[in-house]
Amino acid sequence: MANIKYIGNDTSKSERGKVHVNENTKTGCGAIIDDNKEDWVETTESVTCEKRGCK
Ligand SMILES: [Zn+2]
Repeated sequence: MANIKYIGNDTSKSERGKVHVNENTKTGCGAIIDDNKEDWVETTESVTCEKRGCK
């Protein structure tokens, strides 16, 4: 499965440009993707998030 990159501006959710493991409705580290789908894009870039679940 492709990884997923955060492109939104809510820094409480994730740093912009950070790449996470994609678990469909949320990231590996627990950020909810479904709330703001437009803030996330699938990517083939490698994961840069270092939180538990993504790393
Ligand atoms: Zn993450």
